[in-house]
Amino acid sequence: MKALRVEAGKPYSVHIGPGAVDVFSAEYQELLNAADRIAVIADETVASLHLRRLLSSLKPHEASVFTVPAGEAAKSAEVFMSCHSFLLEQGCSRKSLLLAFGGGATGDVAGFVASTFMRGIPFIQVPTTILAHDSAVGGKTAINHPLGKNMIGTFYQPEAVIYDLDFLHTLPAHEIRSGMAEVAKHAFISNEQWLEEILAIRSFAEMDDEQLMGHLEKGIAVKAAIVEEDEFEGGVRKYLNFGHTLAHAIEAHLGYGKITHGEAVALGMGYALLLSGHPKFEDFLSWCQSNGYPLHHLEEIPFEQVLGFMKKDKKSSGGTLNFVLLQETGVPNFDMVEEERARIVYEEFRLKIR
Ligand code: NAD
Ligand code: ZN
Repeated sequence: MKALRVEAGKPYSVHIGPGAVDVFSAEYQELLNAADRIAVIADETVASLHLRRLLSSLKPHEASVFTVPAGEAAKSAEVFMSCHSFLLEQGCSRKSLLLAFGGGATGDVAGFVASTFMRGIPFIQVPTTILAHDSAVGGKTAINHPLGKNMIGTFYQPEAVIYDLDFLHTLPAHEIRSGMAEVAKHAFISNEQWLEEILAIRSFAEMDDEQLMGHLEKGIAVKAAIVEEDEFEGGVRKYLNFGHTLAHAIEAHLGYGKITHGEAVALGMGYALLLSGHPKFEDFLSWCQSNGYPLHHLEEIPFEQVLGFMKKDKKSSGGTLNFVLLQETGVPNFDMVEEERARIVYEEFRLKIR
């Protein structure tokens, strides 16, 4: 097992490896002892698969558990309020400790609950997806508003991230693809040699635990370095949105839940690479094909359908669209793209995936 440090406003460790939950008793006894109550907010699917293991790692401490709907459905105002009701009913106080147990969605809502319950209580992320190597680090919390995703939230850092890779074995294939796309994103914006290792993976099923752990560690290190430099997203943190302008538009057009976030990011990165003239565009496309990314969605979505959403993107203004572009691996930049050029390249992209 390894521990990485995140030196954000409040420094904390990310413990990663098989059996990582054992650090609760090895390193977090004091924090557990100091808590008058321990509460777990758990994704219902994850709870049914892995809760027993988590609770036994906390022993002799007892925790009360509140399960929330699996995945994105947890990020609603109703679920947020019901988490608060649960904590109040359990008699939690400012001295209570909250654990988030699930993927990025559970982490986002539980982090928001932790940051607002009695104006903030300590919390620990126990992520269970590959994608959560990204979401559990960096301190962004959120729920969705009917008018937009992640519209309500805070910046709030956890006490620790305890990333037990044993939990990842039950992930379905589309969630593995989703997470690996964000891993590839971290490689694209940081390191050519690592990117080549990732592009060499033709089937994620071939990856063993050790390889996966190496990729997750590198991804966390990239995310942590960016967050350390720009905790509140004034500058370089925006590079983490590589691939996301089109991804958000695809997700909004199809409806959340119709495609995983990371799979949409993979399509968005392909498009951004073609817009950028990046030499690895063809390699990336073939990687997406051999790993089963759902490229067919693009054939079904005309440019006009994504244009409106891309114009609404936080990064765009006026008649031009703003993208994170990448002419060279490791050197992301922002650029404006004329609508007409965006259209031509979109059509070119659709032809290439046929
Ligand atoms: P998720 O939390 O939506 O979970 C996806 C599905 O996987 C769910 O059905 C869940 O029940 C299931 N699942 C989770 N762990 C499992 C396991 N170990 N075995 C079997 N099934 C499991 O997915 P995600 O991709 O981890 O997170 C996506 C969310 O993260 C989005 O809401 C996104 O906005 C957010 N996000 C946040 C940040 C951030 O910085 N805070 C960054 C990226 C993404
Ligand atoms: Zn993302």
